[in-house]
Amino acid sequence: MTLPLKPKQIEAVFERLEALFPSDTARPPTVKEDIDLFRALVGCLLSAQSRDANTLKAKTQLFERADTPATILALSDDEVATAIKPCGLYNMKTRSLKKLCRAVLDLHDGKIPRNRAGLMALPGIGRKCADIMLLFSYGEPVIAVDTHVHRVCNRLGLASGKSEAETARNLDARAPAWAKVNGHMQLLDFGKQICRARAPKCPNCTLSSICNYDEKQT
Ligand code: SF4
Repeated sequence: MTLPLKPKQIEAVFERLEALFPSDTARPPTVKEDIDLFRALVGCLLSAQSRDANTLKAKTQLFERADTPATILALSDDEVATAIKPCGLYNMKTRSLKKLCRAVLDLHDGKIPRNRAGLMALPGIGRKCADIMLLFSYGEPVIAVDTHVHRVCNRLGLASGKSEAETARNLDARAPAWAKVNGHMQLLDFGKQICRARAPKCPNCTLSSICNYDEKQT
């Protein structure tokens, strides 16, 4: 089991990530970002276990037909499923999407809640989607934990958890406040480029002297 990092080591991790990935205001938006809150939420729901390119295709096809709760509810289940087919699990996601639309209309008068509890109470919206909405749509300092962030945190000893949600709760308690502004994108890029799922680049890793991963390569 990876030993948890101490507070000073956690600060050092984020300082090194900041040096490696300075905040980039010119970065292109992720597939889950959209200036329209409802569309951003739908993008997040559709992104579960789907590659970004497939999510984008599904989103585009759906929003060509309907992009509000009421107009999506007016489509048949078959129409929705056909539109979102590229992102996989389309029957389940169709049911979730319809329930989400219903809840947004009936419980929130068509508006999207702007706190974690309210977002997570919506059908089909878990901790990751809620945190992505808080970060990208509402500009809150939140480190959303996806599969890459979850892996990096658990290997390093930055935060632990059996699930992404558990890691997110632990990371939220351990990360310094200043690091939560850019921490999501930095850990995400670090996980994709260096601490990769297969063959992490440990010998070239700027965090190697801090990292507690049992299987760290030297
Ligand atoms: S040393 Fe290896 S396992 Fe540890 S953070 Fe760097 S790449 Fe990941």
